Amino acid sequence: MIPACRATPPADLVLRGGKIASVDAAFSIQEAVAVLGDRIVFVGSRKDAGRFIGPKTRVLDLEGKLVLPGLIDAHGHMYSLALELSHLNITGTKSHREIIDAVAEKAKTAKLGEWILGGRWDQNDWEDKAFPVHDPLSAVSPDHPVYLKRIDGNAAFANRKALELAGISRKTPDPVGGVIHRKKGGDPSGVLVNRAMDLVEAIIPKDSVEQYEQKILKAVEHCLSAGLTGWHEAGVTSEEIAVYKSLIDRQALKIRVNAMLGNERDPEPKGDLAAFFRDNRVENYGNHFLAVRTVKLFFDGALGSRGAAFFEPYADDSGNRGLLRITPDDIYRVSKAALETGMQVATHCIGIRGNRLCLEAYEKALRENPRKDHRFRIEHAQFIESEDVRKFAELGVLPSMQPTHCTSDMSFVEARIGPVRAGRGYAWRDFLEAGLIIPCGSDFPVESVNPLLGIYAAVARMDTNGRPEGGWHPEQRMTIAEAVKGFTIGAAYAAFQEDLLGSIEVDKLADFTILDRDILTAAHEDIPSTHVLYTIVGGRIVYERKGAKTRD
Ligand SMILES: [Zn+2]
Repeated sequence: MIPACRATPPADLVLRGGKIASVDAAFSIQEAVAVLGDRIVFVGSRKDAGRFIGPKTRVLDLEGKLVLPGLIDAHGHMYSLALELSHLNITGTKSHREIIDAVAEKAKTAKLGEWILGGRWDQNDWEDKAFPVHDPLSAVSPDHPVYLKRIDGNAAFANRKALELAGISRKTPDPVGGVIHRKKGGDPSGVLVNRAMDLVEAIIPKDSVEQYEQKILKAVEHCLSAGLTGWHEAGVTSEEIAVYKSLIDRQALKIRVNAMLGNERDPEPKGDLAAFFRDNRVENYGNHFLAVRTVKLFFDGALGSRGAAFFEPYADDSGNRGLLRITPDDIYRVSKAALETGMQVATHCIGIRGNRLCLEAYEKALRENPRKDHRFRIEHAQFIESEDVRKFAELGVLPSMQPTHCTSDMSFVEARIGPVRAGRGYAWRDFLEAGLIIPCGSDFPVESVNPLLGIYAAVARMDTNGRPEGGWHPEQRMTIAEAVKGFTIGAAYAAFQEDLLGSIEVDKLADFTILDRDILTAAHEDIPSTHVLYTIVGGRIVYERKGAKTRD
């Protein structure tokens, strides 16, 4: 028998004086939370929280600020983000000269022979909209090879040193599927398109494990400052998972990762899949800092580059219905092995055809081996016919979606696929009405890491300038509660972690995101400018905004 008067052990941390959105089943609002170790031990009134405060308890008085369960991005790529953060950022340059100046500056401090990598230039932003020629670039960086990707990733600009190292000369023919831009006379101009980029990319030195770790940790800091307490890594190798384990062993990883096994550069599933899944499955590593129970597959392409697979051709490219990187049978074989080994499958599908064929492959495997709680996912699930929405619900497949993809794509969707198919895009309301949970993410670094931009896109379906007025296909908007659930309990559910994460309830892990504005009641247009004050993971403050106005 438990004595009724048992003393309450003092908590390590108490949050009070704010609005605490628990995101429990009733979406209840609470006044205080107490944390002992890495777990929540109390949620309730400010008065009752008093008995958890001892002499050593840290008390944060939140002065009306909003506390959410720790925000989780259900789809991101940490190493790609890390590369982007470590590279020279030449987004939005106004002239070719600005690139040269940025590289000249970087060359001053780079180690001898070190590569200068960077990206996101767009000659359409320059007064002279012509593609650049490498001579001025080569003049400011004669010893460092330079390689700068264009904004869409389909072209790059290299200097003389990089071209030499890659063996690209006037004699090099254009590779199949690629173009080497040339000056008059045939010498390479420095611009390489599509497969011609492979010639240089093949010789860029890979990061050592130590460099990889340093870059990941820097990217993680960026995510923590955006209020993320966890993310679902949408495709890593076993080697990369080993790096995460080693960071966790040294308590250097301050964010939780639910990693999906998969390699975009080698998407075809090969070998003994069941054995591979058994060897790599991780339920809980380092007190719930790492789980690996998902296989990531890359099926069709993306809409922007007309790779998303549709049944009918693109409206602006009449011979093209999109591409498939693997076969439906590959998805079936992986699903079969996953069902045998307790793994979840998450497949990248964007177009109507991609989604349909994937659902059919899932269905075939599930019919042979019905597992109730498989939680198979489709990543993106961007264009879906109504009957396929029903199929998601019938099979219990989760549409894992990125609200900012909608607001980034909406300006060109109709041009690509016409108004009818565009109307089947980013159909959040349809999925929710079919009873489905939508785990939400950003696909960073394709979109910004900032989950508040995702929440804003979900409720407004407008860009951050408020366009189009009233929202693009506003009938598909989410409510603010649905959007918050997508980035908390929905994401947790998609990782089989709803008993541990995703809401502020007793016994769950103490992960919180504290905001300076109540986004639950704020006008939509105020959501993007909301700041994260604190990010707390396992009871530990891992990010604190400078000058956060809460009293300690
Ligand atoms: Zn992705």
